[in-house]
Amino acid sequence: SVKWGLIGASTIARQFMINAIRAQEGGEIAAVMSSSAERATAYARENGIPAAVSTLDALLKSDIDAVYISTTNELHLEQALAAIKAGKHVLCEKPLALTSADARKMVATARAAGIVLGTNHHLRNAGAHRAMRDAIAAGRIGKPIAARVFHSVYLPDNLQGWRITRPEAGGGVVLDITVHDADTLRFVLGDDPVEVSAFTQAAGMAGAGLEDGAMCIWRFKSGLIAQSHEGFTTKFAGTGFEVHGSEGSLIASDVMTQKPNGSVLLRTAGAEEQLSFDREDLYVRSVRQFHAAILGNGQPAATGEDGIWSLTAAEAALQSASSGKAVKIDPKL
Ligand code: NDP
Repeated sequence: SVKWGLIGASTIARQFMINAIRAQEGGEIAAVMSSSAERATAYARENGIPAAVSTLDALLKSDIDAVYISTTNELHLEQALAAIKAGKHVLCEKPLALTSADARKMVATARAAGIVLGTNHHLRNAGAHRAMRDAIAAGRIGKPIAARVFHSVYLPDNLQGWRITRPEAGGGVVLDITVHDADTLRFVLGDDPVEVSAFTQAAGMAGAGLEDGAMCIWRFKSGLIAQSHEGFTTKFAGTGFEVHGSEGSLIASDVMTQKPNGSVLLRTAGAEEQLSFDREDLYVRSVRQFHAAILGNGQPAATGEDGIWSLTAAEAALQSASSGKAVKIDPKL
């Protein structure tokens, strides 16, 4: 069995990850930690978790094999370092930290300790994105030339908290959503971004010092160019992901989501085909790969290095937006 401790009494754990852990054979949640003893107790009761603690020390001393970190972003680094020191495997939410330098420190520390560290980039686990990646790798669109990511949503009322009010907690749409888009582009294209140019905006939701909309233009190693749009304030936009190649286009709708939704159309000379793909829960697949990695079989769906890449890309987008210049992307791996 794999016994988990939850670091953070969060919405994402309640909505997706508690279920994803319990869906595994031997997947068990032993304890939850909140900074408030009262919230820890209430959260444990509501979610049937046997132990509630309010310090990291108490959590790391309990009988657990792994931790899932889903606190606000400024806390991930020190919590991950403490868990690694205590010999616990770490599945950490994105962004891994507030800076790529801190993310590199986290990954290097885990590697030196022989600890499995994963980044919870759920979209890699979507059947739609894996079908797109497979189609591209099989040459079905010829040479990939350009990609477009549509990932501007409306931040639900219950999440209109630290993301739009607390720069020091790593709020803002770039650290929240651009990281996912950078990761999904890398995964689907099998290519890495080398440069980004970005504009950001505050369209009425984000408070001082934060952005609630971003448009980024990316150049990849292969020469492919991509655009991505991330937002918190568009109620009616829908999501999508397109990759256009010399021999065909992949046009996916409603796929930048937390659920196994959407469709993927392959359009080539004289033909259109809806690609079929598996509809497994994205987070269930993420935890399954993580469990396998703990047992020595393969790697987490998104590794710590992938988390360094996505944060480096997001950091470069923020630098570009504030400087008005294109910024090179170098994860220093
Ligand atoms: P939440 O705002 O739900 O939780 C973050 C922290 O806020 C919790 O750890 C908790 O602190 C505190 N908190 C929660 N509710 C209350 C409350 N009522 N009063 C006071 N404090 C409260 O964040 P999310 O679940 O949306 O995000 C958490 C992390 O997960 C972030 O790093 C985010 O980027 C990531 N995320 C990833 C997603 C993915 O699909 N990969 C999707 C959504 C988020 P405490 O633990 O101390 O109680």
